[in-house]
Amino acid sequence: MKHNFYAGPAILPQKVLRQAAKAIDSFDPNNLSLLEISHRSKEFVAVMDEATQLVSELLNLKPSQKVLFLTGGASTQFFMSCMNLLPSDGTVAYINTGSWSKKAIKEAAAFGNVDVVASSEQSNFDHIPKDFEIQPGTRYLHYTSNNTIFGTQFQSPPDTDLPLVCDMSSDIFSKPIDASRHILIYAGAQKNMGPAGTTLVIVDEDALGKVDRHIPTMLDYRTHIKKDSMFNTPPVFPIYVSMLTLRWVKEQGGVRAMEKRNEEKAQLLYSEIDRNSLFEGNVAREDRSRMNVTYKLKDDSLMDAFLDHADTYDCVGLKGHRSVGGIRASIYNAMEMEGVRALVDAMKSFEEKHG
Ligand code: PMP
Repeated sequence: MKHNFYAGPAILPQKVLRQAAKAIDSFDPNNLSLLEISHRSKEFVAVMDEATQLVSELLNLKPSQKVLFLTGGASTQFFMSCMNLLPSDGTVAYINTGSWSKKAIKEAAAFGNVDVVASSEQSNFDHIPKDFEIQPGTRYLHYTSNNTIFGTQFQSPPDTDLPLVCDMSSDIFSKPIDASRHILIYAGAQKNMGPAGTTLVIVDEDALGKVDRHIPTMLDYRTHIKKDSMFNTPPVFPIYVSMLTLRWVKEQGGVRAMEKRNEEKAQLLYSEIDRNSLFEGNVAREDRSRMNVTYKLKDDSLMDAFLDHADTYDCVGLKGHRSVGGIRASIYNAMEMEGVRALVDAMKSFEEKHG
């Protein structure tokens, strides 16, 4: 079996894939496929309810924090968040840790005053900036908890009393979080939760209704809260597979167990990067991501040879994002220790050949 290191869409637990395949074949008491029954059927409503309940339980949400499964990707949340939370005369603070934050910042400019309070752009996003000052009257602070491309991760939320908004697309459910500090959390499903096609949104309803602009019905969080994510036809398959993955996370021991497993995997891989004479890490050690491990060959001309070599160890999907180059090993929740061991073995034997 191949070890899948793709950054997203990404690895899913084998058990989840088997269950998902079965549901395509036959799902309801009439043996109809999950793909051909009404989203308002008793069977699918139960899926939506369980998925919602599992998110709430795994992340320990407050009653005012509502769970939604929407469409449009995390990219839609870049503007939908501001549309719903930022009054046109209000200010929002952003921490810029790379391309995803930049895209969010660009969208925000259309809705209010944007204050980029910290950025690591000058050093090509090789660390998480930690010092920042907030202007009085700022409404909330937006950050990207894990930068999927550069391989940096906040080890804890930014140090501020402001309400937080977070793009958790690439590390949601990978560790416990203090959800209660966030008025909004959003994440595209396609890394740690399920297939592409749905976006998890957790919004505190107490933060809504405070803007003066007209919000189109489909872009108003209140529409989806009122209808339990069923205002229009939801993406039934991505939601079903997400529900199966969340069940799996719970069976494994929840987000605390995920954190332990993810730390062990990351520790093994980073130790080898630091030990091996051919490789070096891309980012500051204290900000290294436990989800997307980015590194490079000191001699870039060996890159293709390494990727071919890793392939003989069944390791695939290791090529870094086109804007950064090098290697990116995405080791999301579903990646087994065995996969990381195979990659480390490939790096060791590559050193024996080329070191
Ligand atoms: N934020 C982060 C951190 C991401 O990694 C991605 C996608 N890789 C996005 C946002 C964009 O997500 P989507 O493709 O679901 O719009």
